[in-house]
Amino acid sequence: MPSDIDIAQNARLQRITDLARDRLGIADEHLVPYGHYKAKLSLDYLRSLESRPDGKLVLVTAITPTPAGEGKTTTTVGLGDALNRIGRKTIVALREPSLGPVFGMKGGAAGGGHAQVVPMEDINLHFTGDFAAIALANNLLAAAIDNHVHHGNALDIDVRRIGFKRVMDMNDRALRDITVGLGGPGNGVPREDGFDIVVASEVMAIFCLATSLADLKQRLGNIVVAETRSRLPVHARDLKVHGAMAVLLKDAFAPNLVQTLEHTPAILHGGPFANIAHGCNSVLATKTALKLADVVVTEAGFGADLGAEKFLDIKCRKSGLRPDAAVVVATVRALKHHGGAALAELGREALGALERGLDNLRRHVDNVRGVYGLPCVVAVNHFSADTEAEHALLRERVQGWGVPIALARHWAEGGAGAEDLAREVVRLFEQPSTPRFVYDDDDTLWEKLRKVATRVYGAADVEAPAAVRARIEHLQAEGYGRWPICIAKTQYSFSTDAKRRGAPSGHVLDVREVRLAAGAEFIVMVCGDVMTMPGLPKTPAAEVIDLTEDGRVVGLF
Ligand code: ADP
Ligand code: MG
Repeated sequence: MPSDIDIAQNARLQRITDLARDRLGIADEHLVPYGHYKAKLSLDYLRSLESRPDGKLVLVTAITPTPAGEGKTTTTVGLGDALNRIGRKTIVALREPSLGPVFGMKGGAAGGGHAQVVPMEDINLHFTGDFAAIALANNLLAAAIDNHVHHGNALDIDVRRIGFKRVMDMNDRALRDITVGLGGPGNGVPREDGFDIVVASEVMAIFCLATSLADLKQRLGNIVVAETRSRLPVHARDLKVHGAMAVLLKDAFAPNLVQTLEHTPAILHGGPFANIAHGCNSVLATKTALKLADVVVTEAGFGADLGAEKFLDIKCRKSGLRPDAAVVVATVRALKHHGGAALAELGREALGALERGLDNLRRHVDNVRGVYGLPCVVAVNHFSADTEAEHALLRERVQGWGVPIALARHWAEGGAGAEDLAREVVRLFEQPSTPRFVYDDDDTLWEKLRKVATRVYGAADVEAPAAVRARIEHLQAEGYGRWPICIAKTQYSFSTDAKRRGAPSGHVLDVREVRLAAGAEFIVMVCGDVMTMPGLPKTPAAEVIDLTEDGRVVGLF
């Protein structure tokens, strides 16, 4: 099998203006092309779509991720292609990849094999510059904070209580904790600071939740950047730069249109982390796609405990989006790993480990159906080392739970390999979807935590040190209690211990820190170590990424 980039570079792409016109009926004047194969959809055009009916929304989520890989993005793309093949006008809506992981370990995030969005090099690198714009808007605010302090600090900002960080889209651990303002009075006021990666920024979360430019600007103004010495909040609007931030974001805010290898339209827009933020593409992108297609397939980050929960409780709650069906992606490899098989042994048949690992899939499926109220199908993303006996066992068990299951070979075969899955998804549309939130707006923040922990994670209880509890109560008293919570915990376990694979229960969710995201309008509950500025591995992928003499990118995967 050729590499992802070889497949992508050998693909014949359609000009994006042709694809938009032929597939979606969008006239040239509504597109802002970035070269021949990428375009932004104008915001005026999006407004003109408002009275159109919505298509069906399919959420692709997964079992608990393992280093063995699950393939949510790949399955989203393959399913989109397959739905088009069986005659359903479909768009896929995805996040834009972050540059950090591209040069680090994970590689690109534009799908894989014969299920990719293209041009993959552009999408994985600078694309249309959205992340650069988000970083700039963020860093304008960061600069304004230090500048305000330098010029007399009229707001009385306590420089020890500035929570707003600078960001860049690169894995660079040396920037996690730094000191700024050194070098004498001309260089500002020295203080401890740090960088986060762009996708972990609140500006990114806001960008993805805002429903209009006006809403974007208002939310940017609401960001709490620091506290005064009398511990009152300082907002971005107090520094009067939220308008300028919106200016930097105005072009980026228009969703990007590209295509899959099989010319399925794909809207890629925004890309927040799924731990510290909600982990899905922009509300604007999903809403636009629903106006333009009969079916929209979209992905939420990590497993269904994190990504799907936040998709519903954060993204859908306020935007009015409601999924009609869900796809839970599983792989034989990852299930065997959940069942105790070591990574090095995943190439060998292991029915016992598979059977044990099914606990993890079962918990997610029960959550998706029982807690979130979504009809679902299990998609088995086929890997070449899987055996027939393993597939037979998986099928028998899942069908025994009364859940449809489909083997999908889109990675190797493109959309043709996922037609069974596509037909199962269409069948789900005949069932009623009753999307439910895990908690109500009126629940206290603590009750919200307890509900997610016990109903979704299988935890027995929630604990927090006195100072954290006091902070939660303070936020409740300040009127933030009606907002959703965004739990940041490891993606590798239902618990807060990354090593507890499978379906642990009876554990305790311990909340270590609480962060107010007043612009994004959620409260981040940090449970465990959450990396907001990743580092590079000993041998980063950047070492094999190269440019040939004729300007071709190689080594990207
Ligand atoms: P996720 O969205 O769940 O993080 P991706 O779809 O991005 O996962 O896939 C992760 C990696 O696994 C990609 O490099 C992709 O090419 C690879 N991959 C996905 N499905 C398969 C498969 N069936 N066989 C081999 N590799 C696969
Ligand atoms: Mg993905």
